[in-house]
Amino acid sequence: MKEKDARGKVSLARSRLEGERGAIRKDRGGRISVALVYPNYYRVGMSNLGFQAVYSLLNKRDDVVAERAFLPEDKETSLRPAAGRGLFTLESQSPLSVFDIIAFSISFENDYPNILTILEAGMIPLLERERDEFCPIIMAGGITSFMNPEPIALFFDLFLPGEAEANLDEFIERFIEIRGTGADRKETLERLEKAMTSVYVPSLFRVEYNEDGTIRSRLSSHKDSSPGKIISCPKSADPAVSRSAILTKDTEFADTVLIELGRGCGWSCRFCAAGYVYRPPRQHREQDVLECIDRALTESQHIGLLSASVLDVPGINDIFDHITERGGRFSVSSLRVNLLNEDALYRLKRSGQKSLAIAIEAGSERLRKVINKHLTNEQIINAVKITARVSDFSLKLYFIIGLPTETRDDVEEIVSLVKVIKHHMVKESRGRGTIGRIRLSVNCFIPKAFTPFQWFPMESVASLKEKQKWLKKAIEKEGGVTVSFDVAKWAYMQTLFSMGDRRVGSILMLGHQYRDDWSAAFRHSEINPDFFVLRPRGLDEVLPWDFIDHGIRKEYLKKEYMLALKGIESDICDVGKCDRCGVCHLGL
Ligand code: SF4
Repeated sequence: MKEKDARGKVSLARSRLEGERGAIRKDRGGRISVALVYPNYYRVGMSNLGFQAVYSLLNKRDDVVAERAFLPEDKETSLRPAAGRGLFTLESQSPLSVFDIIAFSISFENDYPNILTILEAGMIPLLERERDEFCPIIMAGGITSFMNPEPIALFFDLFLPGEAEANLDEFIERFIEIRGTGADRKETLERLEKAMTSVYVPSLFRVEYNEDGTIRSRLSSHKDSSPGKIISCPKSADPAVSRSAILTKDTEFADTVLIELGRGCGWSCRFCAAGYVYRPPRQHREQDVLECIDRALTESQHIGLLSASVLDVPGINDIFDHITERGGRFSVSSLRVNLLNEDALYRLKRSGQKSLAIAIEAGSERLRKVINKHLTNEQIINAVKITARVSDFSLKLYFIIGLPTETRDDVEEIVSLVKVIKHHMVKESRGRGTIGRIRLSVNCFIPKAFTPFQWFPMESVASLKEKQKWLKKAIEKEGGVTVSFDVAKWAYMQTLFSMGDRRVGSILMLGHQYRDDWSAAFRHSEINPDFFVLRPRGLDEVLPWDFIDHGIRKEYLKKEYMLALKGIESDICDVGKCDRCGVCHLGL
């Protein structure tokens, strides 16, 4: 039976490979082997441009072979140890345990429980301290590793925070060099940590706590490491244009080549981590983007253009035209409302885009000032009028509830604003006879490291659920508008995994032990998760992620926090002319 199961899994892997274009097959002999793991299902991982970019970067090197592995799905559960081999990679169907390195690419905190599932399925000891000489090096990169790696520190031998283009090559070279000297596992980790300022080996540091549970200090537990070493997050001044390396039908964006237009965002919304940890905002050169598009169009007709704010990209209408004139189609990620214009909308319509994703975030202008959104009601209404005149685009409107300083009035203003939006959509569409739908997606505020909102707590689950219930009733009364919500208790978990320190690792272990029964995990935990989720942090407190350096001054974040409390907006980024947060001073 086991053998039959294992054969079934191998044929599933092979059929996935057959459905792909662009997968790389290499012989492992003489090369450093990396099992690149996405801690979620194949379909989700293959939709992630960061994961695909790291796969390309690794395989570009002749001395590395990188193969992919994902969270096993129901049909793959026999890849667990019971099948005898453990979880294996897609390309060569080799068990994870035979690779030199198992590298996780982590984009979302809610995938943390999956890391433990994958390690277990790969027959790898969950805790770093339980691994022996024969175990691969277990490492992680991706945005959550450079916001706050501490909640998962117990499970990783090392983290490589920062943009992969800026430090992955150096890491591989150092790894080859150190391994070539016959260094054992422990020595390899110590030497890597010493050699690169962006390598973080959690086991070389211990954390001491105050009686009230806050952090007192971080100390080095290794003679050669400086106490409380600061881990720098290198950024590439001019990263190459990232694009999907592998095309498959089995993703969220079937057979679409995703192309990154730039990195970072200069609008500085105070809740948004990507707007801080990817600073400074950088746009790829138009010519580089066009060349990438030309190559992509030889593989697929459909291009997905990714940017935190697509309409900010210089020459964006020329890029749109370039694609359509060559017989391609494109779709875009989210659009800033105040930048919507007829020229761009007609191009989107011509390319077949039917719906627009628009992030309004807060119902009231007051709260939009608190979050530094730089968006007035008048700008929203103007954008809706223009949009409805051009076409019957459906609008997907994103809002956040539970934002700092939010009152009942702010929540009620979401409903008033949606009524006004609907009124103008109907009015402007009258001559045409068709009207786009309005869908609301309402998410809970989750505080994030390295933002000015890192000192705020999350609102209680009970209060958020009450707001969701009220909003649902009020919006549905409107008719013709639908609303969906995220799950408040999952927002609680995400906050715990985003804002926790090392002690949260023990809660993750319990969650794994109780097979994702988090109520049982919390009941058996000696750590109170509310301490990390619902407690406002003191401005002078040592935060779990303070040892990571993005070049952003903490004083700047404090200043932004104070401005938020006063409901005052600050300027958007002006790269080259500004030194407010400290990043551009680095000369990137
Ligand atoms: S220094 Fe100024 S322009 Fe540069 S990232 Fe910071 S806020 Fe933006």
